[in-house]
Amino acid sequence: MIWCVEDEASIRDIEVYSLQSTGFEARGFEDGTSFWEALQTEQPDLVVLDVMLPGVDGIELLRRMKASAKFCDIPVVMATAKGAEYDKIQGLDLGADYYITKPFGVMELVSCIKAVLRRCAPKQTERLLKTGGLTVNLDARTVTADGERVILTYKEFEMLRLFLSRPGIAFTRDQLMEEVWGMDYVGETRTVDMHIRTLRQKLGTYGELIETVRNVGYRMEAKE
Ligand code: CA
Repeated sequence: MIWCVEDEASIRDIEVYSLQSTGFEARGFEDGTSFWEALQTEQPDLVVLDVMLPGVDGIELLRRMKASAKFCDIPVVMATAKGAEYDKIQGLDLGADYYITKPFGVMELVSCIKAVLRRCAPKQTERLLKTGGLTVNLDARTVTADGERVILTYKEFEMLRLFLSRPGIAFTRDQLMEEVWGMDYVGETRTVDMHIRTLRQKLGTYGELIETVRNVGYRMEAKE
């Protein structure tokens, strides 16, 4: 599924239509807010992001995506206006995978997207997070501890993934809520504690790597 964030309806329609007609699933968003909301519940394979958007602009959306453990792996193609060299450089610095200069042709867009997906695919087949004998396979969504499968719930998995993607970093309960449950989730931070408890139990001795940081939340130490 490819998402196209573009405020100009005519360009957006062309993007979505040309992708659909070449066999991709595609969906358009007219602004950053609706895109960001949708991202909380569903994740695309790639995002085509316009730089100049009303409200939250493309650069800011890219920055938010790359700062989030949950979204930082989604490839991004920035669509920049002709001659906007600064946007390109800023976009690439922030981790955009590619940029395409407007106005672009349909085939140019499609071949660019295919190239980026190809380039990102090998990385995705071996996306593993490890600490000691604990391995999280992000593609298979499996966890093994010393070779034994550990069955986690969706939230437990997401929490472990977050800890391992930033080892040694202390997360507040609110941060964990936001990252794992989503920004709009209204709930008690006690929910986090409950999930930490079951996660620790399931991980056995590796559960001890999850430390309680008093008055803050939790962190997970990396193990050699
Ligand atoms: Ca625009």
